[in-house]
Amino acid sequence: MTRSAIIVGGGIGGLATAIALQRIGWTATVLERVPAIAEVGAGLSLSPNAVRALDALGLGDRARAIGMPTWATHNLRTTDGGHLLHPPAAGTPPLIAIRRARLHDLLLQAVPASWLQTGIEVTDVHQDDHSVTVTHSAGELTADLVVAADGIHSPIRQQLFPGTVPRFLHYTAWLGLLNTSAFKDVDFIGSMTSGRGRYFLIHPVAQDQIYWALGTAADAPAIRHDDERLAALRLVGDWHDPIPRLVDATPATDIRRVDIHEVPRLPTYAAGRVALLGDAAHAMSPDRGQGAAQSIEDAVTLAAALTRTPDIPEAFRHYDQERRPRTQRIARDARRTGRQMTGSGITATLATNGLLRMIPSSTWHRILPRAMAPLWAWQPPDLGGHAAKAK
Ligand SMILES: Cc1cc2nc3c(=O)[nH]c(=O)nc-3n(C[C@H](O)[C@H](O)[C@H](O)COP(=O)(O)OP(=O)(O)OC[C@H]3O[C@@H](n4cnc5c(N)ncnc54)[C@H](O)[C@@H]3O)c2cc1C
Repeated sequence: MTRSAIIVGGGIGGLATAIALQRIGWTATVLERVPAIAEVGAGLSLSPNAVRALDALGLGDRARAIGMPTWATHNLRTTDGGHLLHPPAAGTPPLIAIRRARLHDLLLQAVPASWLQTGIEVTDVHQDDHSVTVTHSAGELTADLVVAADGIHSPIRQQLFPGTVPRFLHYTAWLGLLNTSAFKDVDFIGSMTSGRGRYFLIHPVAQDQIYWALGTAADAPAIRHDDERLAALRLVGDWHDPIPRLVDATPATDIRRVDIHEVPRLPTYAAGRVALLGDAAHAMSPDRGQGAAQSIEDAVTLAAALTRTPDIPEAFRHYDQERRPRTQRIARDARRTGRQMTGSGITATLATNGLLRMIPSSTWHRILPRAMAPLWAWQPPDLGGHAAKAK
């Protein structure tokens, strides 16, 4: 008998879960509160573990095809345009940069249209020994299990774990998306420039299109300016070319401001027939480029756990044991890196820059993959023969 799931949230985590469940023979209903499922925001980078998780969903090759290789991990610069580290002359960078909307669309196309219900807001979840029911804005729905992929402010998490409100990390960012056809003089290969308590990241996300992110400290969340582009320019206006030109050329409508929060460490990601996934479970600082990656890993791991036992609470306990230590460790590391790169990290940034200056680029090319191996070398679990062979 086909078993059924309710997935709350149609973001990257929720859609990846729907695809993973389909691959193990389940059916699912994705309930999304916004009227039309679409991803907003600029871009993101996909690390090797994220692409391998997409491989397990049968989507890795398509992600590679629509993303752009980026050297942002190797092309490290100072504000005056000097190079702390150079990328290698040849080879393939470890990261792929991609427009959020394109990644989201890739996932969306892989989910059966009949599984998606939009404009539905889930307000409550309750369960017994045999099933679980969600109450939503249009009624109720019952299934064998619920996956709460409802994001950083997850109402389901707050129902299960009252008081787990996201914590502001005293860190804010401007994100921009820019058509670069007027910048023929610049080769956009990806870069990271770090200065005193702030950084500027550039990823190519398509031919003639880049995503940029400017991060810095903030005393409080929700501080907004009438002109966010001007506010960003005040921070990097005297940084090396082409940074000021890029900010200046970005249409105001393509600049987003986000305040960085994280979800406090949860004691478990599983409660009987309900599992928390993605940002709902472990929203983290963006400084390891791992939030979306971890939500896709979560989805594959959760589906694999369901293939190993028919007992859903037991499968979810295994999912929790596999996912919580890893994601909470990554969140901690990301928070530390974020702190170093922004606000109180003035000394830390200078110290890091000084240290990086002393490392030959060739040494960096060798040590970076080793240092990142615990993160990047993740291998997807077996989806019981349903998944495409992982690369
Ligand atoms: C500045 C920044 C840069 C980042 N860069 C990277 C990167 O380079 N690489 C990377 O891997 N990650 C990155 N991330 C992290 C990544 O964006 C997130 O971790 C990821 O998008 C989380 O996906 P999700 O599906 O868990 O949550 P969300 O995308 O938040 O989706 C949750 C969905 O649930 C819906 N929802 C909420 N409540 C309800 C309800 N009650 N009923 C029904 N639906 C509901 C919402 O409308 C939403 O569609 C970055 C994050 C930030 C802030």
